[in-house]
Amino acid sequence: MKELIVLGSTGSIGTQTLEVARKQNIRITGLAAGSNYKLLEEQAREFKPLAVAMSDEKAAENLKIALKDTDIKVYSGTKGVNAVAVGKGDMVLCAIVGIAGLESTLCAIDAGKDIALANKETLVTGGDIVKRKIAEKKVKLLPVDSEHSAIFQSLQGTPKGSLKKILLTASGGPFFGKTKEELANVTVADALKHPNWSMGQKITIDSATLMNKGLEVIEAVHLFDVKPSDIEVLVHRQSILHSAVELSDGAVIAQLGTPDMKVPIQYALTYPERGVTFEHLSLTDIGTLTFSKPDTETFRCLPICMEAINRGGLFPAAANGANEAAVGLFLKGKIKFLDIPLLVEKGMETASKNKDFGIEDIYNTDFLARETVKNAL
Ligand code: NAD
Ligand code: MG
Repeated sequence: MKELIVLGSTGSIGTQTLEVARKQNIRITGLAAGSNYKLLEEQAREFKPLAVAMSDEKAAENLKIALKDTDIKVYSGTKGVNAVAVGKGDMVLCAIVGIAGLESTLCAIDAGKDIALANKETLVTGGDIVKRKIAEKKVKLLPVDSEHSAIFQSLQGTPKGSLKKILLTASGGPFFGKTKEELANVTVADALKHPNWSMGQKITIDSATLMNKGLEVIEAVHLFDVKPSDIEVLVHRQSILHSAVELSDGAVIAQLGTPDMKVPIQYALTYPERGVTFEHLSLTDIGTLTFSKPDTETFRCLPICMEAINRGGLFPAAANGANEAAVGLFLKGKIKFLDIPLLVEKGMETASKNKDFGIEDIYNTDFLARETVKNAL
């Protein structure tokens, strides 16, 4: 039986991962999250891991008190999360949101763990370093993001070198078909109404701006070793075809299913085996699948990310940092929806052109991009 550590266990992906673990009888050896100590306590009592952590020190204190009748080790702060990441276990599911998930993912790889990666910001900011370490440590990197899982599934059994093009699907989010004028005064509540997926707040806003698709293009470049120009983004409103690949002979292979993250989560955990069915897909009930080109004039974050990955180096990390800061401000009602792409672009421009960089340069780039966003207010 596989032993699994879940980072970000109280979030949307984290809780769905625990649902899969329940069904598959996967042993959970570590759990870590930000500040929701009540939910982490519940999870710890149910799954009886060896160790847990909260990055928030105060929450960790509360959790320590709550779990004092158990043998579970409680760690605190970022160091505590990293300690859980390197504890006993074969695989680490990385579902912390944002660049905050990069460090613990790197720690887990260093400790020789296989990685099930939901946290796309890890590859967007530290893709080259992550991939180098994965190769060095000879561990697996399995995608959890639904589109990347679909691409990975579609490539099973195809000879190396036969991938010609990736067809990356996007739902289009809650604002599909809207004009810039119509988007000028949308509210946080409007932006949080995703038509097909229930997810954490940050990724839901990213889906509304199409930043999420931009981040996913960068994620796909790293995961599948393709050029950005080999990726075509298609708006597919039904979120049934989760992405596809075009092979050298023109054959297109796709993975379809209901929009349920438990499917890609489970595949990463059971790979190469197949797990249980959560929800049956009836294509006759769906009836029609539609595909169209994204509106990159209105949803600027997508072409900005394309530019960032084409320029390479630290540009994606800068765009990501600026976006994290801008989304935070939007959620607090401090900026308007259409300010997000403007700030992401401004933040991206702060990246140094240095092509030879290390982890510190990534954090410095992230910091500078966030500062630029703050100062633009
Ligand atoms: P979420 O906000 O629901 O959950 C985030 C989790 O990370 C929570 O457990 C939170 O406590 C924890 N966390 C936040 N900051 C932390 C820190 N500094 N240290 C430790 N833990 C911290 O987010 P989510 O929707 O579950 O998304 C998680 C990641 O998965 C994101 O990178 C997102 O892009 C990716 N993803 C999510 C979905 C989805 O359906 N939700 C789909 C694909 C990819
Ligand atoms: Mg996705």
